Amino acid sequence: MDLVPAPSGETPVKTPVVEVEAVDLAEQVNAETVALEEASSDYETDSDDSENWELMSNGDNTIQILRDEQLHDGLVPGACTLEEAIAYRKRLHDIGKAAFVEETIARETVTAKKLCTAFGIVPPAFLEGAPDEAFHPLLAIAISREFSRRPKLPQYNSIDDAVKLLREAKNIIVLTGAGISTSLGIPDFRSKDTGLYSKLAHLGLSDPQEVFDIHVFREDPSIFFSIAKDILPTEKKFSPTHGFIKLLQDKGKLLTNYTQNIDNIEANAGVLPENIVQCHGSFATATCVKCQHKVNGDAIFNEIKEGIIPECTVCRKRIAEEGLKPQGLKRKRSTNGQQKDRKEFEDSSDEDDYEIPTPGVMKPDITFFGEDLPDEFGQRLIHRDRELADLVIVIGTSLKVAPVAEVPGILPRNVPQIYISRTPVSHTGFDIDMLGDCDVVVSELCRRAGWDLQHQMIPVDEKVEVTPVEGYESRHVFKAIGA
Ligand SMILES: [Zn+2]
Repeated sequence: MDLVPAPSGETPVKTPVVEVEAVDLAEQVNAETVALEEASSDYETDSDDSENWELMSNGDNTIQILRDEQLHDGLVPGACTLEEAIAYRKRLHDIGKAAFVEETIARETVTAKKLCTAFGIVPPAFLEGAPDEAFHPLLAIAISREFSRRPKLPQYNSIDDAVKLLREAKNIIVLTGAGISTSLGIPDFRSKDTGLYSKLAHLGLSDPQEVFDIHVFREDPSIFFSIAKDILPTEKKFSPTHGFIKLLQDKGKLLTNYTQNIDNIEANAGVLPENIVQCHGSFATATCVKCQHKVNGDAIFNEIKEGIIPECTVCRKRIAEEGLKPQGLKRKRSTNGQQKDRKEFEDSSDEDDYEIPTPGVMKPDITFFGEDLPDEFGQRLIHRDRELADLVIVIGTSLKVAPVAEVPGILPRNVPQIYISRTPVSHTGFDIDMLGDCDVVVSELCRRAGWDLQHQMIPVDEKVEVTPVEGYESRHVFKAIGA
């Protein structure tokens, strides 16, 4: 296949109908699924779970995912050959989405229907016989999906490869999620079925995520504080996986631990604050919503544990002082002049803000929906870590939530990326997948690396069985024998 490059500034060709940018969103995965639902009215889902990519191949009128083996075998009529598909994918990565669309669809060198197959999507039956334009929305998704995908590095596959990477790496980025804390009994608050959300039904919220919605918090902080004690780390404990991150730090290999977790347990393990970016904030500090006074998280832990809404001491002091001043409370009233009399007849609770000053609520510095993410994330990743990282280890997260989900795509593609979690993810290509209880996986990796990872939750004589997953050269399941 010989695809002609499209130099910039060339005479305009037919405007591409494929709106690549329309799905070029930060939350790529969600965008894909939403767009897929729009593309196929016959397809129904009750989940926004990206893992459904695989499930979509069930049934007759659904969008089917095409594996490379199927392209190789030539079993799909009208599809690209595997060689063609690989050439198209490489071309896309080389020249970018807009130029790629221009030199293919806009120039009509290939149909959208056929091009979909190059990116692993079978033209759905419900579009059979439709004009080629009908395939453009699907192609846009397919292109964006491929473009955001990091190609797997072929040279890393085995556990030995993973151990070698660990031993040789000097600047490791560790991305962590709820999965590294679940062995401590801390609920995965994003998990819809087993996590905290299931505990929230009784709060009568239309969407459990409202607990972490800043607007809801401002209106009624008691909703958040009614569950905060459940997600607050109570003891100074940490899991073997936290211990593993600390071990990487001790060996001078930890560049940054970007964590989605807000439990601040990394600190319990001894990971230094300068080595952690808490992408969604944490309970480590809290800030007054009124005067922005900041305190250490410890200062309000007792109140949180008792279910009390913590109030700002600075605000309280100021109010007390102002209350002592003559006319301290009346000043605002006097400016209201005529309305004053009327108010005295009303039992108007909405006037409380004017009449009785209240101290601000202390909000833990976890990032709520509707709040900006800490800026440290992008600053550090893009201006420092991107250049330095020589290995990425993703542990205990399915990488569906921004911004951590974007890290693998932001880093140079030659940096090896390995994955440790219970379930594989399909939307990001890792070089090595190590599936199982992450505490078991890291303890076995350390054993094989000759590293001493001691933790009371790791049995001294632990034996771990590692089984390859059939059909995947680089996917392995770890299981503690007898567990
Ligand atoms: Zn305050």
